[in-house]
Amino acid sequence: MRILVIEDEEKILSFVRKGLAEQGYTVDTSANGNEGLVLAETHSYDAIVLDIMLPGRDGLSILRRLREKKNNVPIIIITARSDVSERIEGLELGADDYLAKPFYLEELIARLKSVFRRASGEGLNLVEFEGLKLNLMTREVHRGDTEISLAPREFAVLELLMRTPSRVLTRTQILEHVWEYHFDPDTNLVDVYIRRLRRKIDAGFDRKLIQTVRGMGYTISAQ
Ligand code: CA
Repeated sequence: MRILVIEDEEKILSFVRKGLAEQGYTVDTSANGNEGLVLAETHSYDAIVLDIMLPGRDGLSILRRLREKKNNVPIIIITARSDVSERIEGLELGADDYLAKPFYLEELIARLKSVFRRASGEGLNLVEFEGLKLNLMTREVHRGDTEISLAPREFAVLELLMRTPSRVLTRTQILEHVWEYHFDPDTNLVDVYIRRLRRKIDAGFDRKLIQTVRGMGYTISAQ
């Protein structure tokens, strides 16, 4: 999931960038309206977080331009708390939602999840195996009716296993995919994460989905 944040207030930009990255999103940023528009038009983003008052070109004009070009990327505008008219104008121009400054990161994440949910429609972006469901957009996890809360790396490990059920992945493969750099091959990081996942996914269910294949690694399968 790749998100573009266009915001010229350095403080806001840096806390949003950091917070979204911690949630496992890839974040591009721009502090200038002209540059931001170029990024938005030349890359494919899953969402754009767009400030209104910007140097170069203002947020409403970016929004208008993208919608005129039939670019339907979900856009959340950031508005001044007091300015109701720009909020209304933004929504009329095709913004998907708005946030008033100052805001908490949790609010932004909730808004993003809700626009992803709307953008993805039902069923798309869903990975499912034996009643265990992962929504790759909203990052929600369910086993049956039970909602399960996973940390970003836990989600990434589970997603990797779920994409190829029954295929055994070695610890090294999991490490390289999820952490993207090389660790001491003797690290027990993967085992630690598998243990956490088992506690969240399998504990309390008769059918265990995460399997250890001795001497090889791990797989998702129903035994
Ligand atoms: Ca601004």
